[in-house]
Amino acid sequence: MASTASALVPPEVLARYEAVIGLEVHVQLATRTKIFCACPTSFGAPPNTNVCPVCLGLPGALPVLNRQAVEMAVKAALALNCTIRRPYSQFARKNYFYPDLPKGYQISQYDKPLAEHGWLEILVDGKRKRIGVTRVHLEDDAGKSLHEGFRDSDRFTYVDLNRCGTPLIEIVSEPDMRSADEAYAYLNELKLVMQYVEVSSCDMEKGHLRCDANVSVRPRGRQTFGTKTEVKNLNSFRFLKQALEYEIARQVAVIESGGVITQETRLYNPDTGETVGMRTKEHAHDYRYFPEPDLLPLRINDAWLERIRASMPELPAQKRARFVEQYGLREYDAQVLTLTRALSDYFERAAAASRDPRAVANWVMGDLLGALKAEGKEITESPVSPEQLAELVDLIVGGEISGKLAKEIFPKMLATGESARTIIEREGLRQISDAETLSRIIDEVLAANPKQVELYRGGKAGVMGFFVGQVMKATRGQANPQLVNQLLKEKLG
Ligand code: ADP
Ligand code: ZN
Ligand code: MG
Repeated sequence: MASTASALVPPEVLARYEAVIGLEVHVQLATRTKIFCACPTSFGAPPNTNVCPVCLGLPGALPVLNRQAVEMAVKAALALNCTIRRPYSQFARKNYFYPDLPKGYQISQYDKPLAEHGWLEILVDGKRKRIGVTRVHLEDDAGKSLHEGFRDSDRFTYVDLNRCGTPLIEIVSEPDMRSADEAYAYLNELKLVMQYVEVSSCDMEKGHLRCDANVSVRPRGRQTFGTKTEVKNLNSFRFLKQALEYEIARQVAVIESGGVITQETRLYNPDTGETVGMRTKEHAHDYRYFPEPDLLPLRINDAWLERIRASMPELPAQKRARFVEQYGLREYDAQVLTLTRALSDYFERAAAASRDPRAVANWVMGDLLGALKAEGKEITESPVSPEQLAELVDLIVGGEISGKLAKEIFPKMLATGESARTIIEREGLRQISDAETLSRIIDEVLAANPKQVELYRGGKAGVMGFFVGQVMKATRGQANPQLVNQLLKEKLG
């Protein structure tokens, strides 16, 4: 799809412009029940079964705010470094007509949102950058229109109202991002933070994380912003990046050819990689917001706020910094090992049990994740426990087995769930660190390769590798490499 974007303007023209991007992200909160009624939020129930008079918007039915939804929203807001609004935030009706919205309005928050003035730090090309978070507010979700899949879908649209009243938070960013990569990094970090504080699974396929992007471009060096468009239907990370790259190039092409950007909503089409105009500002909704009369202002007192604050886990950014500090990891490795809480927990348990946390990090990121990925397994399903991995690493560090041998033992650990020691004992794989035995084997190797010995003595130091290889071959990789090197040097003079 990148080719779609680059076909619009040559790269050197594109380079004269800078993109300005702000994201509006909806996150579905992982509550068991809906935000204003007791209906379950479970996914995949038969259509129109998780409904009641409240979420169907029947006359006279009154909403009751779900306390857990509020706590999760506050957690999310605190994790995004926001200030919780005092003395209260307020719900507001956003009025519009649509078949999947039986109430005729969405209950959202407008001029008094739950939280404001936050930020989230991203890392792009090794540079840290803070992206401002304008606001976090609570709202309910609408139902779903089903345009396909029925016998008479050519004539009818069906409606499933199970999703009506599912709790959402909307997180609006400042227009602080300057490239598709920064937007990608922001959404990624946002997702990670939400998962860490356990307010959402952020499963994009299930619509638990949805993203609209506001985009404009300006000549580099200019201070004022250009006219923005809003791109919708960005329901995967790949789509977000592709859509932004396309939209940025499209806007530059329009401006370069003397045109102007019209403020409009555009829809991303994943099949073509293009964005298409949907409605312009003249056709924008007037939502006639007004304070929700059926709900009291939302006050979060100090005691409640402190209780929520105290329940916050370590956030990904803090964890990354601590991994670098405490275990001496490289920044990149710390980033990989904190991609999920489960992975970071695995690493920490193994690191705590081992003498060499950095070696543990390498094994986790390399062999372990590689093997799990090949089998489609999660880290929580690893047949090798963190303690078992730590033991393997310490056997290498302690010189009991070579790294090469460890690479042979590890797949066996994965296959059987047995410890390295068990496998070593059973298969007699212990490292040969006995100088006498090794000396004998080395003598045999040297005797069998007189030509190479001559080359080495003639100054070709590189032949040393060949000898080490031969000794390893003769010992099935069990020879202690340091000792082999030492003995070879002595013997070859
Ligand atoms: P609107 O009035 O259209 O809702 P807002 O000012 O509320 O616009 O901003 C909505 C989103 O658009 C925010 O995420 C904001 O960061 C972003 N945004 C605002 N202006 C621009 C711009 N010129 N270019 C890109 N994004 C912008
Ligand atoms: Zn209900
Ligand atoms: Mg706005």
